[in-house]
Order: sequence, then C-alpha cells, then structure tokens
Amino acid sequence: MIYCKRCLYPSNHPYGMIFDENGICMGCRVHEEKDQLDWKERFKRLQKITHNSKLMSNKNFDCIIPVTGGGDSYYIVHVVKNLLGMNPLLVNYNSHYNTKLGIRNLANLTTVFDCDMITSTISPNHLKKITNQTIKQYGSMYWQVLSGYTTFPVQVAVKFRIPLIIWGVHPWSEQTGMFSHLDEVEMTHRCRKEHALMGISAEDLVHKKSEVSRSEVQQFIYPYDNELEKVGVRGIYLSNYIRWDSKSQHEQMIDEYGYETAEMQRTFNTYEDVHCFHSAGIHDYLKFLKYGYSKVTDHASREIRLKRMTRKTGINMVKKYTDKYPSDLNLFLKWIGMQEEEFFSYVDKFRDKKIWKNDNNQWILRDSINNHLKSDDLFTKKLKDDCEFRITKNAEPSIKDDEYLLMGRAYVDSRNYGSQEDRSVGGAMTKRKWKRPSIK
Ligand SMILES: [Zn+2]
Repeated sequence: MIYCKRCLYPSNHPYGMIFDENGICMGCRVHEEKDQLDWKERFKRLQKITHNSKLMSNKNFDCIIPVTGGGDSYYIVHVVKNLLGMNPLLVNYNSHYNTKLGIRNLANLTTVFDCDMITSTISPNHLKKITNQTIKQYGSMYWQVLSGYTTFPVQVAVKFRIPLIIWGVHPWSEQTGMFSHLDEVEMTHRCRKEHALMGISAEDLVHKKSEVSRSEVQQFIYPYDNELEKVGVRGIYLSNYIRWDSKSQHEQMIDEYGYETAEMQRTFNTYEDVHCFHSAGIHDYLKFLKYGYSKVTDHASREIRLKRMTRKTGINMVKKYTDKYPSDLNLFLKWIGMQEEEFFSYVDKFRDKKIWKNDNNQWILRDSINNHLKSDDLFTKKLKDDCEFRITKNAEPSIKDDEYLLMGRAYVDSRNYGSQEDRSVGGAMTKRKWKRPSIK
C-alpha cells in the first residue's frame, strides 16, 4: 500500500487517491491552495451567487441548508444568515440514530438562529427494511443516512421552488483533492451517487431478490433532471469560497451559540459526530473493516495539513483508535434485529483485499501507516503539536444518553417521553385491525 508522506491517507481511499513524484497525495496538494488563494475575493464571489439567488427566490426562503445536530450545521447557518443576510429554510433528514445531545444541538440551532426547519421522519419499520437490504447487499448500515441527507433537501428544493442549496465542505476535495477550489464544483446527481453513496442509488436496492419495493425507496429517489431544471436547483459548497477549518469554526460556534461537544469512542475529534450514535461508532468501524483505515485517519490528516498536529502524533492517534471495537454495536443490532455474527458475515464480503488477507479465517492487515513513518520532512518541521479538542459541559448531565431518541414520535411514549416506535409496545395502545369499508 502507498501512504502519503505528508498526511496519513492510503492509496486505497475509496474516492481514489493520486500521489505526485514526491509521494505527496493530491489531497495535500489541493490543501496548499488554502494558503494561496485570495479568500476575500472568493467570498465576494459567494456574495454574488447568493445575491442572484435572492433575486430569483420566491420571496420567502432564499436557500436551503441541510442540517443535522452535528457536523458543520451551525457554521453554515451562521455564514448564510449572519454574513450573507439570507433567509434559509433548514432541512433535516431524521436518521433515527440520534443522540439526545444531537437533538439538543438541533433544537438550539433553530432557536439561536431563529430559523424555520422542516424534518423528514420515515417509519422505523420501513427504514429497518431498507437498512436490512443495504447490509445484505453492500455491507452498509449507514446508506439510509447518507442517502436521506443528500436527497431530502433536494426534494424540498424542488417542491418549494427554492433554487439554491448551501452545503458546507466538499468532502471529496477536502480529503483526496478530487477538485481544486477553483473548479467551484457543485452538487450533482452523479457526484452524489458516485461519491456520497459509493455508487449505490435507491433504484439499485429494488430487484428480484430484494425485499424492498420501488415505492418503499421513493423517499430516497433523487429528483429527475427536468424537475431540477424547472426550478433551476443548484447546490454550492461554502468550502470553495471560505477557507475551511472545521476545528476553529466549531470553536467559534461553541463560544457564540452554545454548540455542545462530547467525547467520541473512535476518534480524538469531539466536534463533528456528536449527533449520531454510529457515525463515529459502528459505521466508522465498518470503514476500517472494509478499507483498513477510519475516521481518525481523516481527522488526523486534516490536522496535519492545517499544521496543528505532527505526523507522528497523527500516527499515534490512528494506533489508539482505528481498531477499537465499537460500543454502540449492540444498540444498532437490537434495532435492526440481527445477530452479530450474521451482521459481520455480510460486511466481510466487502473487505478490500488490497489491504486485508484472510489467513485461516482470521482477517489480517497486509499493511498500515505504522510501516510508513518516513515523512515529508520540510513540511513536518513547520508543524506545531497544538491540537486540543474541547469537550463542553453537558446541558443535561443527569440524563442518560444511551438509546435512540426518535424525533417526531416522542410524544406517543407513555412512559418517559423518550423513544418509542410502536404504540403497541409497553401496552400504551393496542393495535386494532380496522375493517376498510368497501368502495363498491
Ligand atoms: Zn497527503
């Protein structure tokens, strides 16, 4: 395996990774643009785009911002509302994997920025069926989240005729340098399918052997080109116009708007994945089982490129976290109704043989960053080891945050106003079979 001499990325990165003659990856090279571009000028370009959109909008909402209770949601809303003076509609896809902290962050977000929000909550039974299929077909328990997150806002844009969707970072350029900032790449159907969804579209889940029907994946079907063209929908990424630094942006949001952070089990980054039990848990562990690296590599590579972490510390972080068994696995297995062994039997089919080999039923890594300590010395000299991620005070320290809280259904719960998916559970209400009157 080839590993970048500056950051920690391997050549089997699923988005594709190219290295130059000095052994530096394209992600690191594109990152250098952050210190070369005229960001004032680039922000002016953003102002022009958004100003035109304001003129085109339906005099109500100027744009859509997809939000979760984590990630860059706060910072995007801050830029759009406070710096660009727009009136955004926040759009949230409810992943069902929410932590209470994430729901608090989301509620606080709409409150402190005083924004309207629209949420999609799909039936849990329906979602389980789809997730069961994606596990069996692709070894993925997170497809519904990535797909819902990238589909629902676009559907809302079409329905409400709001032509502009504003995303935060372009993750593929940020990680692998797929595009230069100057390309000003926008969100497209193709980019969503190939990169965000690893080539899996909702339509691919419907086939003879599948238990999922076409109507059941309707919520995950991306609007057709003619629908998008009618409204003129486009999706832009702020990271092409603002020098992106997720850590310092989050810190600004902690200080100014009370964004809550929390310790994470599989990475040192306490800011990004707090909204979800699985994003930096079992979902991330599956990334390790498939590609031999995980989120901690993403996070450490980013900090190395921003000159806040030495490569050596980055490698130590990877050693500490990357193969850590996820504590949230049972929560997920209970929800989906699957045994651990069965679950991993599907995942093992998707191990990348370039990095994994099977020796007497034992999966062994062929290589790892630990064997590639030689680094880009000139760059390393400039690094400071000053990379502390803050953990904020928990706003509800007395409340356990160890089970899903299903937004939008909480108030049918007779016991604790927590998560309850089925009203027959716990005897809150019995399921009654209704006889439908005949149409004749
Ligand atoms: Zn690199």
